[in-house]
Amino acid sequence: METFPHLFEPIRLGEVTVRNRIVSTAHMTFFVSNNLPTDRLREYYRARARGGTGLIVIEPVSVHPSNVASGHLLKAHDDSAIPWLKSLGDAIHEFGATAMIELTHGGANGMYTIEAVVGAPSAVPIENARYMPRELETSEIQSIVRGFAQAATFAKKASLDGVILHGGNGNLIQQFLSPFSNRREDIYGGSAENRLRFVSEVLCAVREAVGEEFPIGLRIPGDEFLSGGLTLDDTKWIAQRLQTGLDFLDINCGNYSSYVGWSLGVAPMSVPLGPTVYLASAIRESVRIPVITVGRINDPVQAEQIIADGHADMVGMTRALVCDPDLPEKARQGRIEEIRTCVACCAGCVGREERGQAMGCIQNPITGHEAEWTTIQPAQQPASVMVVGGGPGGMEAAWAASLRGHKVTLYEKADALGGQIPIAALAPNRDEFGDVVRNLTQQLKGTNVCVRLGVDVSSRDVLAESPEAVILATGSVPYVPAVPGIENPNVVTDWDILTSKVAASELCVVLDGDASERSCSVAEFLLAKGKQVVLATRAYHVGINLNKRDKPLTLLRLLDRGLISYAHTWIKEVRPGEVVLEDTLSGIETVFKDATLVLAIGGKANDHLYRELVALEGLHSRILRVGDCLAPRTAEHAIYEGFKAGISI
Ligand SMILES: Cc1cc2nc3c(=O)[nH]c(=O)nc-3n(C[C@H](O)[C@H](O)[C@H](O)COP(=O)(O)OP(=O)(O)OC[C@H]3O[C@@H](n4cnc5c(N)ncnc54)[C@H](O)[C@@H]3O)c2cc1C
Repeated sequence: METFPHLFEPIRLGEVTVRNRIVSTAHMTFFVSNNLPTDRLREYYRARARGGTGLIVIEPVSVHPSNVASGHLLKAHDDSAIPWLKSLGDAIHEFGATAMIELTHGGANGMYTIEAVVGAPSAVPIENARYMPRELETSEIQSIVRGFAQAATFAKKASLDGVILHGGNGNLIQQFLSPFSNRREDIYGGSAENRLRFVSEVLCAVREAVGEEFPIGLRIPGDEFLSGGLTLDDTKWIAQRLQTGLDFLDINCGNYSSYVGWSLGVAPMSVPLGPTVYLASAIRESVRIPVITVGRINDPVQAEQIIADGHADMVGMTRALVCDPDLPEKARQGRIEEIRTCVACCAGCVGREERGQAMGCIQNPITGHEAEWTTIQPAQQPASVMVVGGGPGGMEAAWAASLRGHKVTLYEKADALGGQIPIAALAPNRDEFGDVVRNLTQQLKGTNVCVRLGVDVSSRDVLAESPEAVILATGSVPYVPAVPGIENPNVVTDWDILTSKVAASELCVVLDGDASERSCSVAEFLLAKGKQVVLATRAYHVGINLNKRDKPLTLLRLLDRGLISYAHTWIKEVRPGEVVLEDTLSGIETVFKDATLVLAIGGKANDHLYRELVALEGLHSRILRVGDCLAPRTAEHAIYEGFKAGISI
């Protein structure tokens, strides 16, 4: 019997049958250049189709020239789009998955360039944009409606299986639907009926263009989580009104103008699994067409339950598939423990996208490099490889080297693998980060890697073994700044605090060195212990480098617990029992009495073994360095470099 009978039951979306209930929803990848897909994008989709995904929705495609967008957005403004749409569809169809596209117009979310003025339903400011949009004229609205219909015909001519109208993520359709962004006084605004007009016209035009047989879906938020925005009751009504022309619904949440809603849309690890399933569930109860639910649906057990319980007909597992494209096949075959679970760190996927970089996954270096790295060729001559350091970098390097058929030994001086990850996972709301180690451990199972714990490798050990290659992944130790009085006993590190190695005073001054997860999570740890916490950063606000999904919820939690934050402030001096901070703009000093200074500044490379080895005469091993011992950064860098080093031997 099938392990997940509901998840793997085929489903009809209009006239199209999808092989199972697993969806990779549309998401920006930045594998698009000059508004055209790259081979990288095609191979990315091909890998997800090969891994068994049911429905793959190609990333948002712009439908109209007035959608002022960057070169990273696909454009289907004329029929030159048909061949590349077909090539993407072919890559997806090759492995039996269903291929659709998401038709989009960003409206006020467009890019404000020197040449272009962005149009929206109304001239209302939104968080995502610096300037005020201008109100679209009726003739422009009608032209955009025709753009949606035209792009849908391109999809059909390209042999795709359907289209989804993008009425979520604060885009133009949502801007018209929402009383928050639509303040028009003509037939497109005012009453709920009038606000529905734009999407109704789009739907009618698309239906007329593609016919009855071609599936059309609509993505809308179940709730905008925004004062003055759409509520669940509103979206239930919208869904009921539109269902006759639609084949299915895809329910997400939020709006770029609602920080919390935006967070929940791509929920970080501090949010429980499936936080918005209830929205899809409520809407499904009021319509007769299939409903897709999305948002932190991480594993097949959870996905199966959602469908079995009737909350939704399909599940968007987008980030889970970014992390492990083979998740569906592994689940279907009952190989659940082999699934590399997403930890919702939001760093490699949406985090990189926020920085305008190509998408990846902190745990899966192959994501975005499918063409080069899906198949690793065995080495002609197996070599002996010594990997020193069992943190994420060393664990990944050992696995990757074993894929090449090398004889690999992984040494770790502690009595467990994981390096700094288990320390990071001790903070509140960060425990899921520990799954990175579980996934890496699982990956090592079934390989020939010999793991030796409790061995502090010296240069003499390396010389004695004289392997053909040595990969150093010895990590880092907390960085201690050269400040007067830093040697005082009231100075401790984030490691000391999180591992409860030291007792801190009632007042703790945390130095926010990376303005990111590391410093914020140690502050949260101390607040949860009832300490009074001052978080001081050189940046213009604490946590400034947190990704946009983590930031609102993290700041909310810290402020709720009474965090005192100091911006553009840094350490001046430490005295016995006292911490002196200095405002970096004004030079004004603040003295905290009976205080502990907690250093959460980042790492100092633990590279002494490397220095000894390169100076060692008689050692002919190839020496490679990865992760923090090369330069202290993140687990993402360590895993990526570990993989590259492993396959390079
Ligand atoms: C509090 C905290 C929060 C963090 N939060 C995040 C986060 O949210 N996201 C993120 O991506 N990163 C985060 N990091 C950083 C991340 O954990 C590190 O960048 C990552 O672990 C580096 O991996 P690595 O394999 O290079 O080194 P490490 O994880 O430091 O592992 C090195 C290993 O080598 C072993 N070793 C050292 N010398 C020897 C030797 N001679 N012989 C044998 N073994 C040896 C050590 O015992 C250790 O286990 C955080 C770190 C901390 C401390």
